[in-house]
Amino acid sequence: MLRPDATIGILGGGQLGRMLALAAARLGFKCHVFCPEPTSPAFDVVRRVTEADYRDMAALARFADDVDVVTYEFENVPAETAVFLAARKPVLPDPAVLATTQDRYAEKTFVRGLGIATAPFAAAGSAEELEHALQTLGRPAVLKTRRFGYDGKGQAMIRPDTDASAAFRAIGGQPAILEGFVPFEREISVVAARGSDGKVVCFDPTENEHQDHILKVSRVPAAIAQEIADDARRIAERIATAFNYVGVLAVEMFVMPPGSRPALLVNEIAPRVHNSGHWTIDGASVSQFEQHIRAIAGWPLGHPIRHGRVEMINLIGTEVDEYPEWLTVPGTSVHLYGKAVRPGRKMGHVTRVFEP
Ligand code: AMP
Repeated sequence: MLRPDATIGILGGGQLGRMLALAAARLGFKCHVFCPEPTSPAFDVVRRVTEADYRDMAALARFADDVDVVTYEFENVPAETAVFLAARKPVLPDPAVLATTQDRYAEKTFVRGLGIATAPFAAAGSAEELEHALQTLGRPAVLKTRRFGYDGKGQAMIRPDTDASAAFRAIGGQPAILEGFVPFEREISVVAARGSDGKVVCFDPTENEHQDHILKVSRVPAAIAQEIADDARRIAERIATAFNYVGVLAVEMFVMPPGSRPALLVNEIAPRVHNSGHWTIDGASVSQFEQHIRAIAGWPLGHPIRHGRVEMINLIGTEVDEYPEWLTVPGTSVHLYGKAVRPGRKMGHVTRVFEP
């Protein structure tokens, strides 16, 4: 167990790192954020920062010397960075998880291997392989790059009249995965924490609404039957346990229309705190950020009690200018990340807590 005066090293300085550091500070920890980006939102709230490239080994060695444990707030940490740090200090969650979650094909194969359903999928490493996959899976289908996709980037819908080679070129001609298009009813996610003792604690499944491929609103409770909510938690727990995970992860799932079997399909795993868990800061007795810090510190996990019905709304691009109005809405907490405005950029969020 780390003592409360220990220093937690965080790779990545975005808003997730910022909120992790704020949660850590409340428990007495100090944080050191490592990020190449000079205007990182997390830099504003911590004791020490390193502004350096993730492959700058001298900077990484100094960082490792200064911290007691290393964690990360984004999944694209280069493998050699993780290996270098893991030789010096505990890195949690185990970076071995990254190899699976950085690659959509490896991730879906892993999930399927646990007996958990996903959309039908096949590898599409070339235009020819894509043609072949389309013959197996049919149209419509969704083509996604295996790596570095987020917020709908690196994706193309393949409709009955789409030229498959053009779609392959449109996503950059990179190794890809083809997925059968699934007519889901809603999207949910489960944010789960696993402690160093192997115990898993899940937050209530959250229903997610996207706009232009970016998360816009998360609502809890999700409008799903209790048995589906229980299944969703069990799926997240099984994944966390299979990874021997320590920390917080999020599992995004599709809820299929009533009567479908299976009722839930796993779409994606995020090996980190997740935007769909931001509601937990104001909407639950323990937040996802605190759970993550507790887990990597070897502390017991909290048992989150939800404060009622909760809604989290992302402020994207210039929507952040609406913060003065949000400040006056009863039951609402405003979070601003201190970033420069760019279209499509997550600038902040608000949480609305409604009476149960
Ligand atoms: P992803 O980057 O995998 O999270 O996909 C982004 C969004 O595209 C998801 O949130 C879904 O709304 C949609 N989507 C992804 N995969 C599929 C699929 N196989 N069938 C239908 N919609 C999908």
